[in-house]
Amino acid sequence: MAVIKMRVSKLRKAKSVEDSRHKSASREPKEGQGSNPRRANGDAPVEPQQREVCAFCDDGGELICCDGGCLRSFHPTKEHGERSMCTSLGLNEAKWEKHKALGEKGLYFCNNCKHKQHQCFACGLLGSSNLTAEPEVFKCKHRKCGHFYHPGCVAEILYPDNKAKATCFEQCVAGGLEFSCPVHKCKRCKEAENKHDKEMQFAVCRRCPTAYHRKCLPRDISLTEDEEEAMPQRAWDGILPDQILIYCRKHDIQKELGTPKRDHIVFPDVRNPGAAERHRGAPQEHGILDEDELVDRNPSQSPGPAETGSGRVKPIDSFAPKHLFSRPQPGSCGWLDD
Ligand SMILES: [Zn+2]
Ligand SMILES: [Zn+2]
Ligand SMILES: [Zn+2]
Ligand SMILES: [Zn+2]
Ligand SMILES: [Zn+2]
Ligand SMILES: [Zn+2]
Repeated sequence: MAVIKMRVSKLRKAKSVEDSRHKSASREPKEGQGSNPRRANGDAPVEPQQREVCAFCDDGGELICCDGGCLRSFHPTKEHGERSMCTSLGLNEAKWEKHKALGEKGLYFCNNCKHKQHQCFACGLLGSSNLTAEPEVFKCKHRKCGHFYHPGCVAEILYPDNKAKATCFEQCVAGGLEFSCPVHKCKRCKEAENKHDKEMQFAVCRRCPTAYHRKCLPRDISLTEDEEEAMPQRAWDGILPDQILIYCRKHDIQKELGTPKRDHIVFPDVRNPGAAERHRGAPQEHGILDEDELVDRNPSQSPGPAETGSGRVKPIDSFAPKHLFSRPQPGSCGWLDD
């Protein structure tokens, strides 16, 4: 079921003169969490925080949710993404309405999930997540976490000071060991999240595996813009339920967007297998309707030439350099025991 969400949005000074404190504190009623919540494995309802905003622009509004493992949502049409200057999936408005009318039958799988090619959340590169045929990236074990990692990338973050352990961990993950990714421990105090204690709620970076407790949030990841110190706003409260949305200090904020550069999403190029395609508002295939039926064929939205090569593209600028990732406390064994 592709759930359609209406959420409050980030308000950025550049775009709005509304009182952002008032607006961001308000909440639209939640859809998809009523009498028929999403379920995984038939147990508890699944509402991952990362699904609440568009994966391209991190803004709310009407979103189409992927029914695959990535647990992401996207602005479906240009119009829906207009306020946040989001390229969106570029779907045609009429077809989007038709898709919505399908309700539960209207499945949608993004091209990453459809073709089992997901990006590593640490390095940004695409890799096969097909567990039946030499997988390269593996999903975090947490039900509400849609992040995939290369075994080597997640091992390096979890065991930065212990090469032997990192190598062992990497081999275990490649061999199918379930793992908890770095997003589930505070970068500063290494403790877990507690949604019921406000100070222990998490602030999670949208662009890399970095999270802090509210009480541990560095001063320069600020909920407000500080023009005097030329410090951009990097944190937003009230957009995600019981969680702060942040861009950590590894990512430069683009003033005109109010977000880091939006080159962080890479879909596999299905017309040119082996190549990958940065998101450019390209028309997407669809789980139920024919692609020709659904996509907007507006030529101005057609993607540029796909990058070819060995099946991988270069690391993406807005992904953080590896040496900046969170490190477990000295002397600790990292998070293998989680
Ligand atoms: Zn968007
Ligand atoms: Zn997906
Ligand atoms: Zn990686
Ligand atoms: Zn995770
Ligand atoms: Zn902490
Ligand atoms: Zn980050």
